Amino acid sequence: MPDMTTASTSADATPVVSSRASTRAKIAGPTSPETPYPLRMSGTVIKGFGRGSKELGIPTANLPEESIAEQEKEMVTGIYYGWAQVVAKDSHQNSGTTSSSSSSAASSTSSLALSHPATVYPMVMSLGWNPFYKNEKKSAEVHIMHKFHRDFYGDDLRVIVLGYIRPELDYTTL
Ligand code: ADP
Ligand code: MG
Repeated sequence: MPDMTTASTSADATPVVSSRASTRAKIAGPTSPETPYPLRMSGTVIKGFGRGSKELGIPTANLPEESIAEQEKEMVTGIYYGWAQVVAKDSHQNSGTTSSSSSSAASSTSSLALSHPATVYPMVMSLGWNPFYKNEKKSAEVHIMHKFHRDFYGDDLRVIVLGYIRPELDYTTL
């Protein structure tokens, strides 16, 4: 019993953040983003390079060059992590429309939320050299850690990059 008392006292006295920090994998970086993070990127999801990511079970949504132009210059190639959100294009149109029907703004907002819950998911992002620009500019490909039931080409992808995981590595077994 004395042991239990000691354990619970020390558990109560330990701030949650530091107990998480002690179990946090080194690869995930510091507990809070450090300069230059967080970095924001957003743009319309475009067709990628057809490398078959989806067939490998890791679809990667590609952002257009202009939506990463500012940030990519400062970023080395490799794998990053953070958060991502897909916002359906038609939800923009709906939200911009002033409804002439009798339905209130509140009810149209709630039906929109039901059909387009713009949930924020964890993501990993590969920043690599873009073959369309003769490998002189970088390209961002985002794998969202969520099972979507449809593709979302043409929708808006919003990304917050919180840290860097590792450089690009070549497959040695494929
Ligand atoms: P592409 O070469 O066109 O990028 P991918 O095989 O990499 O093709 O598939 C990417 C597409 O898959 C994305 O543009 C998106 O529409 C869809 N997709 C479905 N689920 C996800 C997910 N979890 N993360 C990223 N993209 C996804
Ligand atoms: Mg892709």
